Amino acid sequence: MIVVLSKGISTHDREMVRIYLKDRGFSIRDQVLGDDEVIGATGKGMVDLRELGILPGVERVAATSKPYELASRESKSADTIVTVGPVKIGGARITVIAGPCAVESKEQIMETALRVRESGAVMLRGGAYKPRSSPYAFQGLGMQGLEFMKAAGEATGMPIVTEVVSPEFAAAMNDLTDMFQIGARNMQNFELLKKVGAFGKPVLLKRGPSATIEEWLLSAEYLLAAGTRDVVLCERGIRTFETYTRNTLDISAIPVVKGLSHLPILVDPSHAVGIRAKVSPAALAAVAAGADGLTVEVHPRPDEALSDGPQSLFPEQFERLMRDIEALAPVVGKELLRTPKPSPVSVVSIGAVQAPSDKDAGNRVAFSGESGAYAEQALVRAFGEDAPRLAVSSFRGVFDAVLDGSAAFGMAPVENSLAGSIHEVYDLFLRYPDIAMVGELKLRIVHCLIGDEKSSIENISIVRSHPQGFAQCRDFLDKHPDWQLEACNDTATAVASIAREGATKVAAIAGEVAAKAHGLKVLKTGIETNPLNYTRFVIIARRNNNELAPVPPSLGSGPPNKASLVFSVSDEPGSLFACLRIMSERGINLSKLESRPIQGKPWEYLFYVDVTLPEGAGIFNEFIGELKSKTREFHFLGSYRASL
Ligand code: PEP
Ligand code: MN
Repeated sequence: MIVVLSKGISTHDREMVRIYLKDRGFSIRDQVLGDDEVIGATGKGMVDLRELGILPGVERVAATSKPYELASRESKSADTIVTVGPVKIGGARITVIAGPCAVESKEQIMETALRVRESGAVMLRGGAYKPRSSPYAFQGLGMQGLEFMKAAGEATGMPIVTEVVSPEFAAAMNDLTDMFQIGARNMQNFELLKKVGAFGKPVLLKRGPSATIEEWLLSAEYLLAAGTRDVVLCERGIRTFETYTRNTLDISAIPVVKGLSHLPILVDPSHAVGIRAKVSPAALAAVAAGADGLTVEVHPRPDEALSDGPQSLFPEQFERLMRDIEALAPVVGKELLRTPKPSPVSVVSIGAVQAPSDKDAGNRVAFSGESGAYAEQALVRAFGEDAPRLAVSSFRGVFDAVLDGSAAFGMAPVENSLAGSIHEVYDLFLRYPDIAMVGELKLRIVHCLIGDEKSSIENISIVRSHPQGFAQCRDFLDKHPDWQLEACNDTATAVASIAREGATKVAAIAGEVAAKAHGLKVLKTGIETNPLNYTRFVIIARRNNNELAPVPPSLGSGPPNKASLVFSVSDEPGSLFACLRIMSERGINLSKLESRPIQGKPWEYLFYVDVTLPEGAGIFNEFIGELKSKTREFHFLGSYRASL
């Protein structure tokens, strides 16, 4: 049983709760769970939960039906997000850890770190102490190996994770490692768990080859009970009758654990399958099944590896895997954590965008809508759960907030894969020349029909949403021709209006997150016409001046590789062709071309163009110069890192 204490509980009240529990035969422990202070109570004591729940200073009581408590979803419903230095694990992101099985030399770990970092890994793995099945096999370089690894992690900006095989090494390792790994063979080494948990450092807990999910979660409980809040589970294959693969990857453990526990879960496809060619398919399956990330063995020359060479990926294979994960992530509503996201404040300090005026605003990201809006989900994906946000009531409000400095960044949708461009936002870029695009992000949109707890589809007569919501659910709405459609500024506002009015005949089309945020019921999910429904959002910031921004900050790794332009050409044969020819001759790929009427000039058009940038800013600047000379009106909306 978990007793969650109120914030600011007095010492006296806390003592009274402790005495109350002890008097009734419980053994108790003080713990911290997420942001809450809790008392964990175990034993066969008898208690009236209602009586306990109303004691002064008691926020709520969670009676868990599982033998583990701190690890259970019943005691904490929100997903735990584990922080390791600048890296986060859990929530709406896929975190990839990569590195060799074992640290073999200073050069080998450094070379591997550089390669995996280049492909987008955010943490470095590697064994300094190796638990090998044979006593004659390479046992690792020990503390010296860990020192090499720390140096490689520091040089590449990646936190490190390494296995601790014995309580005896734990204290010395604690000074060097950012995260401990408990290996599969040691999952039930309870003395080791107690010792390591007590450091309070993040721990990656591998599942034992023959451990049940319950045993695994009980081991996590040991770590949490010993004092750490940051436990990440890792499925790495279990022993079955099948011998083709090294182990059998228990894919179903991922959704099972997600239901039972709030802890993040990673998958180690390398030890699970043990065959290099099968690692990437298993890794992708893990992501599809809901894993929060991966830990993958990569070696610059696997054939020369001192351990686990046959399952280690070549760096090129890892690069390919990362690209595939990036493409898959939006399907499961996540974003591949490419590099630890810089805080918005540090982004502002780079290049051409300007810091907002007041100090608080330096962290804020503006979006249009109410809590649960798709734009809010997009900003959480780009800037993290803790990003301070500013909800405004229109797209124009987002531009205004960024322009007047009340927010450092804005998140605005520009295009949907089913319904096309959001012209209102494109038009705003022309009206706000001081605002530039500095990043982009694609969010998979799964629409739901959302209503009051008491309503059902049969009773609905009015449906509210943003016009894009209606357009993306055309087929579903066509089946209900009698429904009256009411347009709102955004989808979450539609949901909020129903919650406010308590209307039972009105439904909204919006995301599940919005339903949760406003305490409403999902009447039907997945009502978009096609499941391949993505909205492209752009991150906007204020420019210093109207000049072409040199290299605007990128929220991904590496320099910008995409730019958005708007131009018009003279009304004569070949004028658009002349512009396209410049792109063709310079090998610049056109990824979008759309024409829009120019307001106030009937039958004249602006061209909206997205281009992929070649390597080297010099070529790009020349291209822009040449293109400008062929156009009548020219706007550079910004350059940024393309999202797949
Ligand atoms: C490892 O990750 O290096 C390792 C030995 O894994 P496991 O404990 O899962 O076998
Ligand atoms: Mn290994």
